Amino acid sequence: MTDQAPRSTPPTHGLSPGPKPSPNKHLLAIAALRKTIAVLWASPNTGLGVTVGLIGLATGGRVQFRDGCLEFWGGGVAWLLRRFPVRPVAMCLGHVVLGLDAAYLRRCGRHERVHVRQYERWGPLFLPAYGLASLIVWWRGGRAYRDNPFEVEAYNEAG
Ligand SMILES: [Zn+2]
Repeated sequence: MTDQAPRSTPPTHGLSPGPKPSPNKHLLAIAALRKTIAVLWASPNTGLGVTVGLIGLATGGRVQFRDGCLEFWGGGVAWLLRRFPVRPVAMCLGHVVLGLDAAYLRRCGRHERVHVRQYERWGPLFLPAYGLASLIVWWRGGRAYRDNPFEVEAYNEAG
C-alpha cells in the first residue's frame, strides 16, 4: 500500500488525448476502406486490362489516367477491339478502359464508369456473369449485347 491518493484519470505521459474524431472522419474512413476492397475485388480484371493495354502501348498505343481508371487506346488495343463480333468502340476490364481512340473514350466515359462499378460489385465473377447473362438473353430471343442487364443498366444510367 502507498500513501499516494488514487488517480481519477489515467496518466497521459505528457500527451494530450486530442479531439475525438468526428463522425465524418469515420464515414470517410469507411468509404476509403470500401473503395480499397472494391478495387482489390476488381483487380484480376484490371490486371487483364493492363496486360492488353501494355501490349497496345508496345504497338503504338497511348495511355492516360482519368476518373480513377487507366485508359488505353490505339495500337494493338484498337486492332483487338475491331476483331470483336459487336465491334465495340470501347470496353472495360476492371479499372481499365480500352478504346479505339481518345475521342471514343471521352464519349463513352460515363457508360464505361457504370461498368467499372459493376466490376467493383462482381469482381472476378463479372465476366462469367456478363457472358451467362448474354447467353440467357439470346436464348430467350433477345439481343445478346443490348438486352444484357449489365448493358441495360449502363445505357439507362449513362447512355
Ligand atoms: Zn457497355
